[in-house]
Amino acid sequence: MGTCERCGGNTVDLPTKVGDQDLVLRRCATCDLRQWRRGDEVIDLTTVLDLTAEAHASRGAKRSSTRP
Ligand SMILES: [Zn+2]
Repeated sequence: MGTCERCGGNTVDLPTKVGDQDLVLRRCATCDLRQWRRGDEVIDLTTVLDLTAEAHASRGAKRSSTRP
């Protein structure tokens, strides 16, 4: 539980495992603000989608990725 940065309402933390990473989706019950966090760090939804894609890729078909 926390306080929403936007409206000051109550937020709920939903721990989620993406790949091998423990992420938290912080959601405000009042204004529906959604914020992804990894530890104390706020991360982009794009980053979350990347992690999800990576998790699926490494689990299923073997694809060589050329990411840095
Ligand atoms: Zn809010």
